[in-house]
Amino acid sequence: MRNFVVAIDGPAGSGKSSISTIVSQRTGFTHVDTGAMFRAVTLYALENNIKLDDENAYGFLDDLKLIFKNDHTYLNGRDVSNEIRTDIITNNVSTVAKIARVREKMIEYERESAKEGLILMDGRDIGTVVLPNADLKVFLTASKEERAKRRLKENLERGIETTYEQVLEDIIARDYKDSHRAIAPLRCPEDAIVLDTTDLTIEQVVEKLIELIDRGMGNGRI
Ligand code: C5P
Repeated sequence: MRNFVVAIDGPAGSGKSSISTIVSQRTGFTHVDTGAMFRAVTLYALENNIKLDDENAYGFLDDLKLIFKNDHTYLNGRDVSNEIRTDIITNNVSTVAKIARVREKMIEYERESAKEGLILMDGRDIGTVVLPNADLKVFLTASKEERAKRRLKENLERGIETTYEQVLEDIIARDYKDSHRAIAPLRCPEDAIVLDTTDLTIEQVVEKLIELIDRGMGNGRI
């Protein structure tokens, strides 16, 4: 079986998940959404009244069953794909993602998922820490205003009422926490191709990414 691993990193709302989902559907790559993993741990912690910033409160991780299949996330057998996208999770996930024990556990899942085949993994530290030997690294970014606009649109489509100002504030706060944490902060890998998507449509970004993968695989066709 042919192996090829693509690492996609970038800040909140840069389009990593949506783009990766479409590209994987069109190319046959398996999409591994690592943000969903951190979100599922956050959901469990909140539901069980775990003190989020207490490093010693995460013993439950050893018994947690997380499964990711076809862009669905299962927490102890329950499909939590929608719940992990709610505001309460989005606003707390960066606190959970700082915890060393959580990152150690997630890295096990992440590396296990990328062991073989055609893999497209997106997150914050994939090209820098999780898969430093990835065949292709892409850093997706966009202005914070554009990212806030996209998030606001997504929220409206999902019936979540928020204001542009609130979404922008949340994005800035999450980027700050993700970039300033001690372990595996959000950084652009030195050897990544940077795609600024501020003025690009989803379709344009999808095409660019497919082109990069094509070229990386060296066959002109995926
Ligand atoms: O990509 P998404 O918005 O779903 O990520 C949710 C959060 O999970 C991020 O804000 C970050 O705190 C954390 N995360 C991380 N490392 C990753 C993926 C996500 O710390 N590889």
